[in-house]
Amino acid sequence: MAALGASAPQGLRGVAAGPRQERAGAGGLALLGAAPGAPSCPHGPALLFAKMNQGEEEGRRFYACSACRDRKDCNFFQWEDEKVSETRLAAREEYNRNHQPAFTHRQNVERYENFLLLPLSKRKFCQECQQLLLPDEWEKHYGHQVLCDISTAQLKSPSQLLYPLENKKTNAQYLFADRSCQFLLDLIIALGFRRVLSVGTPRLHEMIQSKASQEEDFSVRSLLLDIDFRYSQFYTEDEFCHYNMFNHYFFGGEAAHETCRQFFHQDKGERVIMVTDPPFGGLVEALAFSFKKLMAMWRQTKKEGHNNQEMPMFWIFPYFFESRILEFFPSFSMMDYQVDYDNHALYKHGKTGRRQSPVRIFTNITPSMIVLPVEEGYRFCTICQRYVSSGNQHCEICNSCTSKDGRRWKHCALCNKCVKPSWFHCNNCNCCALQEHACERTEAGCFVCGKAGHKRSTCPSLSVTKTACQTDKKKRQKTPKKVKMGICKRSAMKHAIFSRKRMKNKKKKCSLPY
Ligand code: SAH
Ligand code: ZN
Ligand code: ZN
Ligand code: ZN
Ligand code: ZN
Repeated sequence: MAALGASAPQGLRGVAAGPRQERAGAGGLALLGAAPGAPSCPHGPALLFAKMNQGEEEGRRFYACSACRDRKDCNFFQWEDEKVSETRLAAREEYNRNHQPAFTHRQNVERYENFLLLPLSKRKFCQECQQLLLPDEWEKHYGHQVLCDISTAQLKSPSQLLYPLENKKTNAQYLFADRSCQFLLDLIIALGFRRVLSVGTPRLHEMIQSKASQEEDFSVRSLLLDIDFRYSQFYTEDEFCHYNMFNHYFFGGEAAHETCRQFFHQDKGERVIMVTDPPFGGLVEALAFSFKKLMAMWRQTKKEGHNNQEMPMFWIFPYFFESRILEFFPSFSMMDYQVDYDNHALYKHGKTGRRQSPVRIFTNITPSMIVLPVEEGYRFCTICQRYVSSGNQHCEICNSCTSKDGRRWKHCALCNKCVKPSWFHCNNCNCCALQEHACERTEAGCFVCGKAGHKRSTCPSLSVTKTACQTDKKKRQKTPKKVKMGICKRSAMKHAIFSRKRMKNKKKKCSLPY
């Protein structure tokens, strides 16, 4: 293995050498990124991480799967300095081969063509194997749950036919509600784009494909890049590439790479936009690395003189990742539009009224161009020059519409910024927080005795002040319930399995996704 000198790891060097690694505390993990010559698992080249041990500056480096947060999905692991024997290398190659899909994309396209020739009564789809069946295969799927009479309309909506892989940490498939999907497409068209690179947005791709086949004057085209290979049963090689967005890996090799390049090339004044909706638990820096690679591919297809342009992009992600995304893409801004999902218990437009989805659009397009639906309560702030949520009030002091979550935020003069409506200024912590928060900063003084150097939980005067201790306990019993609920809510959605507080901790010491 090449030593990680000046040339490695690519793209994420700033991250590896920068403050993130410093922040990775004892026992924590830091992502170093894609390294040249990295070993591969079935999901393409593994990513390089560093495991920090107490008292160590550098940490021990190892490779792990880029795509799977769950070891059950892929348990690839190798120390960077580990000697891997020839036998083990051969076994690994064999394993990787065996863990590729049963059919190639080409085979799947041919199968689809044959499937289309079948009369309705012979069109079957195995729900267990998530596969279109040809008549000579029916026997093999005997006893499986099989859907019959698959119509052409069903074939045009694979995202409805296929089971969303939502429980799998690896895929975290959460499909756009029709309203949000339609909004995105209308917006894309209104902005003048005619080609959409759909990265992990199968439903948007499907909406475009299906309109293109039904409406004559519909001129938008889409290319889907996704790790979910089941889609290769429904789309040709020009419409779908099997792609891993955590390591920018095209499973179809150079041919698939070329398909993507061609898609950018065919841009004869038909402008391209990339739309992506990655799993929320994914590592922002790994995603940013891949998206920059895609942007570079796009740039290479541009004529000279346009070199400093950026490919227009919508990155759909929860609002609490704003600062992380802006770290990598300073030209981006966050829109107030709340993206809703279909198979999402908590963040969809329910009968009882709107549930507040935390998912937003991050874009490098000028905010004033992103027109949000007035009938859903969005309005234009002339000072901020962007559309904002109905509850988002322009703060005179901050001189900005400051709400991130759609609720009206309030200005704290002591913090000198706007904060959530449920927060109060804590003199102990010297910042705003929930009323029932535990004061964490020991230097600010103990909550019980006011002295510096310890927290209330370890306050030496606690054994004396029994009553203080008891009320304290009561308070503490209350808090975990709320915290748990927070975790629960988020775990229901995509990968976001950490409460925000835990997420902050993660950021500090652990960026490995499992
Ligand atoms: N809201 C979107 C779907 C987003 S769910 C829509 O309705 O179109 C996240 C998507 O990312 C899924 O399609 C999933 O298969 C894909 N995905 C998950 N991990 C991926 C990876 N490592 N590389 C590429 N795509 C991935
Ligand atoms: Zn893997
Ligand atoms: Zn404003
Ligand atoms: Zn303010
Ligand atoms: Zn405050």
